[in-house]
Parts: sequence; structure tokens; C-alpha cells
Amino acid sequence: MGEFDFIARLAGRVRARSDVVLGIGDDAALLAPEAGCEQVVAVDTLVAGVHFPLDADPSDVGHKLAAVNLSDLAAMGAEPRHALLALTLPSLDPGWVEPLLDGLLALLGRHEVALVGGDTTRGPATLTLTLIGSVPAGLALRRGGARAGDLVCVSGGLGDAAAALSLRGSPRPEDGEIRLARERLDQRLARPTPRLSLGQALRGVASACIDVSDGLYADLGHIARASGLAAVVDPARLPASRALMTAIADPGLRQRLQAGGDDYELCFTLPRDREPALADLAQAAHLPLTVIGEMGPGEGVHRLEPDGSLRPAGAGWDHFA
Ligand code: ADP
Ligand code: MG
Repeated sequence: MGEFDFIARLAGRVRARSDVVLGIGDDAALLAPEAGCEQVVAVDTLVAGVHFPLDADPSDVGHKLAAVNLSDLAAMGAEPRHALLALTLPSLDPGWVEPLLDGLLALLGRHEVALVGGDTTRGPATLTLTLIGSVPAGLALRRGGARAGDLVCVSGGLGDAAAALSLRGSPRPEDGEIRLARERLDQRLARPTPRLSLGQALRGVASACIDVSDGLYADLGHIARASGLAAVVDPARLPASRALMTAIADPGLRQRLQAGGDDYELCFTLPRDREPALADLAQAAHLPLTVIGEMGPGEGVHRLEPDGSLRPAGAGWDHFA
């Protein structure tokens, strides 16, 4: 498939939005701004061989490209609106790009995001998605808003993606329950769910928020640093999914995996007097929300040990470390 055939096919698959004055097809897109709102803009890149294996299911890759980016908007409390796709690929093989677009456009469509432009070039496979969203002025969730005494909370379960990675290549058990749990973990790694409705519900409620991509302790460390505080986490309180409990029997290993990252849950801080709101938030977002620690004076992220002492938590994933 040639570049222009590809763009024409793509343009034919893109959803309409009333705030897209001009979408794919001109030199640039035209978007109508929304009164009383701030625009939220984020970009993420997936590199073949770094972020996904070369033989990965292209529809999973498309899903993940959208999901990691939508997760950043979720962490800001934003509503996603528009996307731009910069595709660099060795070839436009329809057997690869069609399912890639299937995965990408399905997740974007679920959140009513319109693809309004992009770029298509030849080279080593690198996929870059830019998302544009909207948030009522002044209400975006930032990393720097936590106060001493705030509770540290996390959505969903932690460690599923890291467990899937660590189990990759190990033999599939016959046991039905463990097998199902392994499949569920694989799904969580390949097709993460961005927590958009939770992020939006946290506007005006959470004092700071981040999505857990590099690992809980590293990401919470960003909140601590930006807020000029320390965070203390009780590892025994980290939420584990039923799949993780089933697939990983060793509690010590489970705790290490829970710090592993790639789960795209939201970690947020909550003024203590708003703790009663957690149950309603959880119900509205259809997600468990768990208090795992608190913010206090000092710096860094510390783990509460069983004997009551504090230990510095390890760092997360760093591409250049
Ligand atoms: P130009 O040379 O002016 O940059 P292009 O040929 O790169 O134009 O793009 C033509 C149109 O197709 C533009 O509107 C651009 O935004 C869109 N487009 C190109 N590649 C993509 C892509 N991968 N995803 C979405 N839109 C794309
Ligand atoms: Mg171009």
C-alpha cells in the first residue's frame, strides 16, 4: 500500500466530531476551542523492540498506543477529544497496519476521540500519538498539589502487567483457574484500560494525581518531589487483582511485581477529610480504590516495613539508566 492510499483509507475510517472544523486532508487540522476550558496535550511514542516485541499482535500495539496516551489525560482529569498519529514503518503492509488501526481506532472511538491528522514516513517502526483533551479551566489534576497528611490512594490492582512479563515464556499450566488468571494478566499487559472516568471524577477532589506507568514508587516519587513532600507506603496494603493472587502464590514476589509498572492505574492523593468520598468514587468508576499510604514532611518514597521502620523505596523504569 502506498502512502496516499493509506491516508485515504485512514481518512475514511475516522469518526466525525462537531468541534473538528477541518480534519485529515489539508496541511493542518482546524479545531474549535471550548469556552471556559484549558486544552490538555500529551504525546507518547512506542518503539518496536523497546516498547513492544516485533512479533506483537498489531491490534494490541494500536490499543496500547492509544491507552498509554489516554492514561496521561486521565491522570490530568481531562476529557480526550482529538488525536494526531505520526507513523514511521518499514512498509505499509496492510496485514500489519489494518489491525494496528483497528486496535487504535477502537479505543479512541470508545472515548469519542477523533483522529484529525498525522504523518506517515518510512523507517524503523516508531509509533507516536499526540492527544488533545479538555479540562475546565483551573481544575486539571497536577502532580504538585499534595499536602502533608493527605492519603495516598491507587485504583484497580497493581502488578498484573509486571506479572505477565515475568511469566512470559514459562509453560502454561493445565489447571483451568491458573490458566485463566494468566490470560487475564496477559490482557492487562497487552491492552491496558485508561482510567478516564475516574480521572474526571477526581477533579476538585484529589489534590494530586499521576498514572502508574514506570512503577508505583517511581511515579509516586514524582508526586512527592513536585509537592515538596515525602510519601510513605505500606506495601501490605497494595491492591492485588484476583488474577495476580491466583497466578503468583509467593507474597514476597507479588509485592515486588506490584511495584513493577505498566498497569496504567491512577495514583492520587486525597485530603484526609475526603476519605468518605472514596466509596462513591469507586462505585462511579467501577473500580476498587485503595488507601496505600500517606504524604508527610520530608522527601522521597518510603516503604513501611513489618517492624514499623521505614525503608527508601527503589526506583522505577528509566530508559537511559
Ligand atoms: P504534508 O506533506 O502537507 O505534511 P501529508 O501527505 O503528510 O501532508 O499528509 C496529508 C494529510 O494526511 C494531512 O492532513 C495529515 O494530517 C494526514 N495524515 C498523514 N499521515 C497520517 C497519519 N498517520 N494519521 C493521520 N493522519 C495522517
Ligand atoms: Mg506530513
